[in-house]
Amino acid sequence: MVPVPEALETVLIQTAKCLWLHQCCSEMTSTPMVGQISASDIHAPYPGYPNYNSSIMDGYTVRIRDVVEMKRLYDDMNENESFTMSFILEGKVFAGDDKMPSSSSNTSLPSAVYVTTGAIVPNGYDAVIPVEDTETYSEDGISRMRIIDGKVASVLATTKQWTWIRPVGCDIAPDTIVLGEGETIQPVHMALLAQCGVDKLPVKCLPRVGVLSTGNELSISADQCQGGKIPDANRPLLLSQLSTYGNCKPHDLGIVSDDDSIEVLSDKLKTALWSDGIDVLISTGGISMGEKDIMERVFVEGLGGKVHFGRMNMKPGKPTTFITIEKESNDGNGTMCRKLIFALPGNPVSASVCTELLVRPCLDMLYHGVDTSDLPTPASEQSFIRHCIDNAYVHDELVATLTKDVNLDKGRPEYHRVTLQRIFHSNAKHQYFYHATSTGVQRSSRVMSLRSADGLMMLPRGGPQGCGQDVAQKGQEFPVLLYRSCSLSIGSGVRFKDSMHRKSMNESSKRISLGVVFCASGKEDASGRLNEISTTLMHSLGGENHVKLVNKVVCTPGDKLMVQRLNEAVAMENVDVIFVVVVGELCQDSTLVPFQAGLNVAHTLRQIITKRADAMAMRLRRAAASHDARAALFENVVGLVRDSSVLISCTDIGLEAVTDIRGLLSHLIVTLKKD
Ligand code: AMP
Ligand code: MG
Repeated sequence: MVPVPEALETVLIQTAKCLWLHQCCSEMTSTPMVGQISASDIHAPYPGYPNYNSSIMDGYTVRIRDVVEMKRLYDDMNENESFTMSFILEGKVFAGDDKMPSSSSNTSLPSAVYVTTGAIVPNGYDAVIPVEDTETYSEDGISRMRIIDGKVASVLATTKQWTWIRPVGCDIAPDTIVLGEGETIQPVHMALLAQCGVDKLPVKCLPRVGVLSTGNELSISADQCQGGKIPDANRPLLLSQLSTYGNCKPHDLGIVSDDDSIEVLSDKLKTALWSDGIDVLISTGGISMGEKDIMERVFVEGLGGKVHFGRMNMKPGKPTTFITIEKESNDGNGTMCRKLIFALPGNPVSASVCTELLVRPCLDMLYHGVDTSDLPTPASEQSFIRHCIDNAYVHDELVATLTKDVNLDKGRPEYHRVTLQRIFHSNAKHQYFYHATSTGVQRSSRVMSLRSADGLMMLPRGGPQGCGQDVAQKGQEFPVLLYRSCSLSIGSGVRFKDSMHRKSMNESSKRISLGVVFCASGKEDASGRLNEISTTLMHSLGGENHVKLVNKVVCTPGDKLMVQRLNEAVAMENVDVIFVVVVGELCQDSTLVPFQAGLNVAHTLRQIITKRADAMAMRLRRAAASHDARAALFENVVGLVRDSSVLISCTDIGLEAVTDIRGLLSHLIVTLKKD
């Protein structure tokens, strides 16, 4: 069984190989539509937009040289002279008119033309005076316009060449790239393309994804659902789920019976793959261990596919199998053609969750490609693929707090469907927090568990073989992978290399490096006790396979010295977790009570912690108290120090209880270190 992030990495590697072979990149000419990817740069044609001088105002267009002349006369005028700024009206041009008024008179007066917003400004005119600054009148039977009294000075001062005119090409200069090659068409491009007169353009073809249901129990129509027959829920679910991604063209391959022979099934799929141009195939059902589960044989024996993984360490969706099929193409150049096959389990929830986890990132990469501009050329296949995987966009993620307890699965980590709620916290730096609520019983046949799900919460495996906990408790935080449809999604997702999802794999397979700081009261054999404590801690945290001890120091619970020791411990190596273990105090009746020293230490530690994990501290305190009731008197502190290490303070009483938080440590490290 492979961990899910590793399975996703495998899928991305095989998808990147398709990119390397230039597959799924064919082009077609299309009318522009939002979501399509342009296959070439689209330039604005000459002379740009607008392609005529266009008025910005309803008003009168005039010649600037007339205005300049009037300004000269006005400036030369005596104080008690009156001044009228008049123009002879030559006609009207409304927006959409292409007939321009002809110049009528040879009078010595300057002329003007009435224009509306968006109208062509006739040749020779080069400024517009807004209608609200003017009035019309008639003299000698000729229509005239003059600037109203009181506005003359301001009109003369503000009217310059091109005032209230958009000259040709001022919004989009000729040759501007309005849509780049590889860019996804957004609503704004629809306007830009229209303004540039582009009604057809080359776009990338969407990968074609075939969806096939398998099983004799599946009926096509609702009225046949008797006697062990059930409706086929997977095809409508997956076909529509895929259609919301905007990165593929879903294609219905129908239902096949599992009574058919491997040859019959393979022939049907061969046609889909090699004749109908299916790039990615999703089958559901028939991939587990039952007698009729023949899909793996169909893909491997019948179609010559190669299995990359056949089980995932997750719930739901364990039998998920990923296969590639390669064939020499018919072009005679010996190029290889490859198809990606996701053989998913039959239960609808498993099929949907695995499509979201694996197929969606695969299709995103196939369709959108990966930005390789900073990859040195020529790149080797290996470096190209590595680059693609690291920079592939995968699910958006956030960390959310459970609103209720959730039982953990004892066998596998669970991708638990949750509904999210965003909580605004006005007192803490105006941040948002997220609450997650389970969608209820997570049985993989129960489609209701997908209803109103915003994402998949990554819950660790429970029980002694897992995180040591049986329940993920209300108040605990876990990462959530967001569905594309979730409104909290912030866009294209996160890069795989930065994702908590991938890091969770690294962290859980990586050993945690541990530092131990022992706060002794000075009365006991400090170094002997430090060794004992370190041994207990190592044992409780799962032994050498899970943790490595990189540093241990002794100090007294005094402020300065302790902080200094802690800083040394953090600085020394890449310490993931530091345990500050405070010795219990000896009372007169010789029972150990961790009370006073614990308070001092908690006080000091809180001052150096940059991010607190109080729910974890609470959990540890409760766990320790259940081992030894006196531990309840100790105040545990958990949080991040120096932005690099997780600090956990506890007492040596009930120290074995750290087992209870063992499984959560890697999650805690990831969560706290995340910005
Ligand atoms: P399988 O993976 O074929 O063993 O199927 C597991 C369970 O999922 C069985 O209960 C099937 O009846 C059910 N199942 C398989 N395919 C579908 C489907 N297309 N729609 C609804 N349920 C299905
Ligand atoms: Mg079946």
